[in-house]
Amino acid sequence: MEKILGVRGMNDLLPEKLRIWRVVENKIISVFKSYGIEEIRTPILERTELFLRGLGEATDIVEKEMYSFQDQLNDQFLSLRPESTAPVVRSVVQHSLAYNEPRKLWYYGPMFRHERPQAGRFRQFHQFGVEMFGYEGFECEAELILICGAIWAEVGLTSKKTPVLKINSIGTKEERSLYIDSLRNYLKKHEDSLNDDDLRRLNINPLRILDSKDKNIEKIVCEAPKINSFLGQKSLSHFNGLLDFIKANNIPFKVDLSLVRGLDYYNSVVFEWVIEEKQSQNTVCGGGRYDALVGHLGGKISSACGFALGMERLIDLIEHQQEESFDEGLDLYVAHDGEAMRLLSMGFSEKLREAGLNVRVDITSASIKSQIKRANRNQASFVAIFNLEEAKQNCVSIKSIGYESQSSRPSSVQKTMPIEQLADFLLIEKSKRRKKMI
Ligand code: ATP
Ligand code: MG
Repeated sequence: MEKILGVRGMNDLLPEKLRIWRVVENKIISVFKSYGIEEIRTPILERTELFLRGLGEATDIVEKEMYSFQDQLNDQFLSLRPESTAPVVRSVVQHSLAYNEPRKLWYYGPMFRHERPQAGRFRQFHQFGVEMFGYEGFECEAELILICGAIWAEVGLTSKKTPVLKINSIGTKEERSLYIDSLRNYLKKHEDSLNDDDLRRLNINPLRILDSKDKNIEKIVCEAPKINSFLGQKSLSHFNGLLDFIKANNIPFKVDLSLVRGLDYYNSVVFEWVIEEKQSQNTVCGGGRYDALVGHLGGKISSACGFALGMERLIDLIEHQQEESFDEGLDLYVAHDGEAMRLLSMGFSEKLREAGLNVRVDITSASIKSQIKRANRNQASFVAIFNLEEAKQNCVSIKSIGYESQSSRPSSVQKTMPIEQLADFLLIEKSKRRKKMI
């Protein structure tokens, strides 16, 4: 039979990679918790209408990246979510989550976009995001930016790999509409250089052209009129208040007057975190204010702000670091010399797990030698060998295979200890390893 392969651009995450993923996920979640943000989960499928209305019809996502289909069983038009802001807003409105008081929410999960797969760009990818509802002041953007900074620090990005904050204000709808007129006039002079997509956007929403990744168009955009001279007093003081806060907190940033972000729902502050060394797919995280979206999706709240962070691109930045510094891994691999010890050790291992240890029991009838090999392959810190002779004395043999500390530990000394001391011994060793990691 021929093999059936996975869908292009949708990757399996295999155990080896997931070791890092899981640690990074936990760290990001711990940052969210430290800011008192609550988790929300929405379904992967939504009504297509949500994204048409929520993201804007002239956006890349809606025009050509959505996995949309008609459910043959009830004729509904559905889409795999390409992003989660619109779904979270839908849920907040549906359940009146921010009815009486402001709300800070985080989400995590797979998103789907029918893009051309390449490095850092996939058809299924994962985003962490935060959405805050009911906060008018720039403190909301300020806190979102602090959270991102805390994430970069928590996952241990070193200076060269730390994303730089790019930030801009795209003002109110009215301010933007004056700007759009001026931008359209300017771009019309360069119509010859625009492709069909951009020509269409010139009429519907020329801001999208600023977001172009085409190098020729980027050049034209450089010379285009800038939004800042169209901003009114309120937008300016919001933006300047935020910039003052960012400076006071020593967060490196650059104002990028061409930054508009790819979705229609933004207003006022927009920002991205970019790896400057990289040429393409260099945005790790993007966000901003989207005050009008809640109303647009039928809710009553008039201020909202958030960001989304791409896990694949973040992992790519940390992948080159020492894997072991991330992974607490397996504390003990349990080997045995036959069926009686296998069953005994399975029962005993339950107690070790209750004590807080990660224990994997070999439930095969392989030789001790090959069980120890497997312990190595599974990167356990220790292997315990339950054998009949020692068990009669209530003892067990234990050997360090020290995956995490091969260089510092006198390797592979086997010793025998009373079975009841095993848990304490392993817990002490585990805490030593933890200290080393910090
Ligand atoms: P890009 O400009 O790279 O297409 P975007 O503006 O479409 O990004 P957002 O919709 O703002 O991206 O999503 C936030 C983050 O999610 C991005 O900064 C990126 O890290 C990640 N992301 C977006 N699309 C993909 C994708 N197809 N594959 C992997 N990660 C992605
Ligand atoms: Mg995109």
